[in-house]
Amino acid sequence: MRENARVPAPFPGVDAAKPPPRPRTWPDPTRLARPIGGPKRRVEGLVALGLGTQGDLLAALPFRFEDLRRVRPIAEAVLAGEAEATVVGRVGSVTERPTRRRGLRIVQTRLSDDTGSVTLTWFNQRHLTRTLVPGTRIAARGALKVGTRGAEMTVRSHEILGGPDEDPAAAGGLVPVYHASARVSTGVLRGLVDEALADVGDRLPDPLPVELRVRHRLPLRRDAITAGHRPRRLGEQRTARRRLAYEELLLLQLALLLHRDAVDTQGGAAALGPPGPLSARFRDGLPFALTGAQERALAAIDRDLDRERPMQRLLEGDVGSGKTVVAFAALVRAVEHGGQAALMAPTEVLALQHLRGAERLLEPLGIEIAYLSGDVPERERRARRARIAAGHPLVAIGTHALLHTAFPRLEVLVVDEQHRFGVAQRARLSAGDGPVPHVLHMTATPIPRSLALTAFGDLDLTIIDELPPGRQPIRTSVVPEAKRADGYAWIVEQVRAGRQAYVVCPLVEENPDVEARAAEEEAARLAAGPLTAVRVACAHGQQPAAERQRVMAAFAAGEIDVLVATTVIEVGVDVPNATVMVVEDADRFGLAQLHQLRGRVGRGDGQSYCLLYASAEPTPEGERRLDALVRHTSGFELAEIDLAMRGEGRLLGEAQSGASDLRYARLDTDRRLLERAREDAARLVREGPDDIVRAAAEERFGELIQALRRA
Ligand code: ADP
Ligand code: MG
Repeated sequence: MRENARVPAPFPGVDAAKPPPRPRTWPDPTRLARPIGGPKRRVEGLVALGLGTQGDLLAALPFRFEDLRRVRPIAEAVLAGEAEATVVGRVGSVTERPTRRRGLRIVQTRLSDDTGSVTLTWFNQRHLTRTLVPGTRIAARGALKVGTRGAEMTVRSHEILGGPDEDPAAAGGLVPVYHASARVSTGVLRGLVDEALADVGDRLPDPLPVELRVRHRLPLRRDAITAGHRPRRLGEQRTARRRLAYEELLLLQLALLLHRDAVDTQGGAAALGPPGPLSARFRDGLPFALTGAQERALAAIDRDLDRERPMQRLLEGDVGSGKTVVAFAALVRAVEHGGQAALMAPTEVLALQHLRGAERLLEPLGIEIAYLSGDVPERERRARRARIAAGHPLVAIGTHALLHTAFPRLEVLVVDEQHRFGVAQRARLSAGDGPVPHVLHMTATPIPRSLALTAFGDLDLTIIDELPPGRQPIRTSVVPEAKRADGYAWIVEQVRAGRQAYVVCPLVEENPDVEARAAEEEAARLAAGPLTAVRVACAHGQQPAAERQRVMAAFAAGEIDVLVATTVIEVGVDVPNATVMVVEDADRFGLAQLHQLRGRVGRGDGQSYCLLYASAEPTPEGERRLDALVRHTSGFELAEIDLAMRGEGRLLGEAQSGASDLRYARLDTDRRLLERAREDAARLVREGPDDIVRAAAEERFGELIQALRRA
């Protein structure tokens, strides 16, 4: 009887033998607990913070604790002269004045306790004149100095404390600090959380199956929530967070796997049997031998294709690792079986490149190719759609335009995308009572395994962790503005040696027109000046498609030496003779994007170079990104760094984020926990999860699954 299992008690005072409050129904009744009342402004503020009910409030743990247990009296702290001190006291009147530096204003007050006082200074925080009422008790942290007018501190952070009577936590213990807003202060949140803990704290139900909780020696959810808000010892809140993170990851993995299960049991894919002679001819026709990693990926795909359970596989590999041929091999399998295959790319540039690849590698085998994109003239498009609709065995290549096409015999679908396509699209692609296609997703950017297991947790994962032989690491440097002319001279030298170069122009957010114009101007400037000796052309997203295609094709054919471009070349473009990548205002790009851009070179056997120019005023994060790029060449390493820099649990893109984001788990540091949750969830699915944990998973991540389906 699991209800009576003995549970170790990580928190003192928790009665281990008492049966845990495992609910009989879900949703968790406390989530539905009464909405939080109070003044309208506060209620609106709470709702804006996503804290509509007591359950929400309890779920949102403080993001840090102010440790006031060892705060010294002001006089003592001043004597100690610590570089980093915390002082607590009441503020006097608050003044605000401009400084000599234009636009910079300072706010000052005097902070006093029984032993002494110190002048506090804030820069550019004018709102404090409203929020810091004289007499307010606060804790301030910063460097303490003794100046001409006595002790002073430039405040790095501060916390408004209630009086000791109204806010016991603030009296001298661990003070929880919540994500607050202008309308709802962290002090108010502390009070509301205390109320909620008193109201429902000991009734919080626990969705975790007891045996998992026992096995991992985790506290009850009830106790974790309490300790997470009001730890009695420093460190207790960490155990609490871990417990909640595990639960969160388990529910997520469970939701993903149940979703996967639902897809699987639909069955209905064509079992393609082992690869035959056409596949062999494809392999023999390749101008190179496959790497071991490519072979392993293909073997996994071949196994998938031999089943009626539709393949749902994510193929991950660093830029240049050779994902395309693996995908082509899968396409060939469908045609060999007498079925249809489709390869969908996110951009026209990329789709065209795949088309050229297919013309090289597939057409010689007698495989029919149908290209479809928004830029194909209507009449052509209709003719090609008719071929597809008639069920001819062929390989369709294109952009999203493929989605509006009915494939009666679609057996293999490859999605070369930075996003992902879900069940809805697949359903649309395979018309009527045709087979459910086997789907291979390829990521344009490597993503850390932890992220892959979450955002793509319903897919099987294959990683190509090896580059084709002979690739030399790209030499990357940040070029100081003073050396700009040298950079250009050096490009000319490379061109003389028979090589080609890209110059990527600054990102202009939200304004492709301005971005395009800037690229054209830059191309003109380079052609008229520093690069006048070589052939320069420009490609950007605002050009008519035909024009852009002409330029890209000319560059691929070596008729252009330097391609000045916007990020239209970001993903997938493959011109092995290009060996120089110049990125302007490089610090403004994201790390993944920079890695993608750099991945446009180093695709042949020549030494390649990436020259990064920083913008006039790079942010510290921007500089760290450039530094990371200089020091690391592996996309997987960079992805880990990126994840650590952003340190987040965001599962979907910005637009779709929200309720589905991870609250407690951190993908950068909770990797072991994630793997464990993944295994446990898989076992639960095999053994049949109980209704409670199933409903909890649905409640917490149902929305995410919906989003994945739509994505
Ligand atoms: P990505 O994984 O970034 O999509 P591609 O599939 O575009 O990479 O391959 C990058 C380049 O490497 C292409 O020019 C491709 O022809 C080449 N390539 C792929 N596999 C091999 C291999 N096994 N040996 C040598 N070159 C290869
Ligand atoms: Mg690619």
